Amino acid sequence: MPEAIPGLHHVTAVGSDPVRNAAFYTETLGLRLVKRSVNQDDVSVYHLFYGDHGGSPGTSMTFFPYPDAAPGQVGTGQASAVAFLIPGDSVDYWVDRLAAEGVDADDPVERFGDVVIPFRDPDGLPLELVARADAPAGDPPEGPVPAEHAVRGFFGVTLSLSDAERTATLLEAMGFEESGSEGRRVRYESHGDLGYAVDLVADPSAPQGRPGAGTVHHVAFQVTEETQPEWRQVLMDHGLRPTEIIDRKWFESVYARTTGGVLFEYATTEPGYTVDEDLANLGERLVLPEWLEGRRDEIEAGLPALELDEAVSR
Ligand code: ZN
Repeated sequence: MPEAIPGLHHVTAVGSDPVRNAAFYTETLGLRLVKRSVNQDDVSVYHLFYGDHGGSPGTSMTFFPYPDAAPGQVGTGQASAVAFLIPGDSVDYWVDRLAAEGVDADDPVERFGDVVIPFRDPDGLPLELVARADAPAGDPPEGPVPAEHAVRGFFGVTLSLSDAERTATLLEAMGFEESGSEGRRVRYESHGDLGYAVDLVADPSAPQGRPGAGTVHHVAFQVTEETQPEWRQVLMDHGLRPTEIIDRKWFESVYARTTGGVLFEYATTEPGYTVDEDLANLGERLVLPEWLEGRRDEIEAGLPALELDEAVSR
């Protein structure tokens, strides 16, 4: 078995208005727009990446913002919540900030001993802030949120399933170990310091998820270039049908639809978001992989305007 997977690499969701999406993730949540590109499978749509200062693995939340996307339904067969890690003493700061920014947020709850603030993005995507004293210092983005309170990256995801058994078996093969349960929620944790928690919630009576704005498209885990072919084999050994290795420019990827319905990706930590832009200028202009560069004029003409002010493109 290849070396255990430390945690998430990125999470990709479907949004609608790209300007509103960028404003929420950069101004309200204080993440950095680290990459501005297009959906490589539909170049009429942006692919926007928000992360820490350097876009480190385990920090990037990415979106396909289809301007006229119909709302989806969050439900089984999906990642039904995405959780970000904040420092343990930042709960009051974030409760106040979300309220001041008019964010659709719930009162904090306690889960596995941690304070969790549930909230939704402008498309209704369920998000959480999980406060932990052991949150790593990390590489916080510069911006509207002081570094001491900044989002550090992912804590993890919740997967909503009608039957969790085979997804649990796959997670265990990936190096995640069951660490506890609360009601229907069973937690699996790996060894990384970001994106290390995957909660499985099995509820056969829950509504079936339906893709659309405000839903997660796929969940990507960190692998290395050396182990990626071995993970492909592990997926096949679990009866799944992984894709070939696909070059995504900033990482190489293998995708597999899991038995529970959630699309998993196995993305390499290298070369990363600085392969085609300087660290200082990440996300400022539209970047295209070289195989799309010849179509730049046509692609730019087909994209909605995304003029972000200084605060957003910082
Ligand atoms: Zn991905």
